[in-house]
Amino acid sequence: MVSIIGLIVIQYNYLKIGLNLAQVRFNQNIGKTIKTIKSDLADNNKLTFLLGKAITNDDTYFDTELDSLKNASIYFLHSFLEDRLLENGIKTDFSYKLYVRESELKLQSKSYKENDAKLKKYTIDLFGYLPNLADKNVGLELQFNKINEYFLFQLNSLNIPSFIFLVSIIFMVAWVLKSLYWHQGIITMTNDFINNLTHELKTPVFSIGLATKMLQQQENEKNKIYIEIIRNQNNRLKEHIDKVLQLSSLDKKSNALQFTKTAFTPHLKKLCEEFSAISKMEDVTFTYQITDKPYTLNCELMHLINAINNLLDNAKKYKSASSKIVLQSEQKNNKLHISIKDNGIGIHKKDQQNIFKKHFRVSSGDLYTVKGYGLGLNYVKKIVTLHKGTIDLESELQKGTTITIKLPLVKT
Ligand code: ATP
Ligand code: MG
Repeated sequence: MVSIIGLIVIQYNYLKIGLNLAQVRFNQNIGKTIKTIKSDLADNNKLTFLLGKAITNDDTYFDTELDSLKNASIYFLHSFLEDRLLENGIKTDFSYKLYVRESELKLQSKSYKENDAKLKKYTIDLFGYLPNLADKNVGLELQFNKINEYFLFQLNSLNIPSFIFLVSIIFMVAWVLKSLYWHQGIITMTNDFINNLTHELKTPVFSIGLATKMLQQQENEKNKIYIEIIRNQNNRLKEHIDKVLQLSSLDKKSNALQFTKTAFTPHLKKLCEEFSAISKMEDVTFTYQITDKPYTLNCELMHLINAINNLLDNAKKYKSASSKIVLQSEQKNNKLHISIKDNGIGIHKKDQQNIFKKHFRVSSGDLYTVKGYGLGLNYVKKIVTLHKGTIDLESELQKGTTITIKLPLVKT
């Protein structure tokens, strides 16, 4: 909107400058025209002879009535003036009055208007033949009736394209805004739908969990494996539901997080211990190096731990044959660097800038054997950004990935 208003103001100023220039040019041309009219009407020639008779009401020479003589004079004077104006590049409506001063004698075109202040007027004092004949001063007044329209018409080659471009830009902006609102509406609708659906899924997932617990009490060799499958898959479903709901709450509220100053190291250690236990069961070598310093962060602990858990989960999910994961935390320049390094399948260069986008998953290779929704890293990025931190990614295909999050430390 600001750009459009700016363009209109610029166009308006251009128009004003253009009008001024057209006026200057007109004044120059009219100056030249007046000079030629003056010198042409100074001599005794066919035209001035006729005009002289008409303006002095002398119908003795021509064998005709005075009115016809005046009409003929008006006609010839008009074409004479039109010629002189055209010679100097002026092609616009005009009217005129040829008059003898201090008398009633005059000759005027039909459209001539007495005392109209709005009209542009030029008075020419004639010399030579006509004043001599009348024995008084003779003047010729030229009036231009539609001078502003004439100036605007001259600027048409500038005005019409600018108008067309301006209208096109306004149209484009309106169209872009309209489709933007339309898309926004669809995105909000889809998000609301997904969130409602996910919310609704929580109840059946909770019931399945409860029922599975009951079933476990009647567990035997035959049904044990099936109960285990139901329990695991139900847990995965629950995790995904939580992830979707967490992300949508982050999207909706700008102040979704409640920050408190927290000594972070003990919580990070606890997470590593838990992850270490899980890794052992899944044949993954997990080591961590955390210094004993407490490192105070202004954070929402639950989300930050969830984010790191997502990174560990990815390192475990996208593994190669003998999986090794290392978590390291250290202080560098008033920031806490937490890096998670794996020796897994790695990420192709072309995919690296996309993996933080919502729902993005690498589509090559046999990756789809690993389940996921492409939400984890988007969540991590949002959480780290809300904590005023940054994320670095280093990855090489078949060699492994290191993701480092850098969080500002609270000065103690
Ligand atoms: P979700 O986390 O929602 O269960 P996901 O793991 O597929 O699903 P993200 O965590 O956002 O989603 O990761 C996006 C994609 O980035 C993954 O699908 C995977 O292709 C790639 N990726 C992420 N971490 C690693 C890693 N450590 N090594 C190799 N590829 C990775
Ligand atoms: Mg993930």
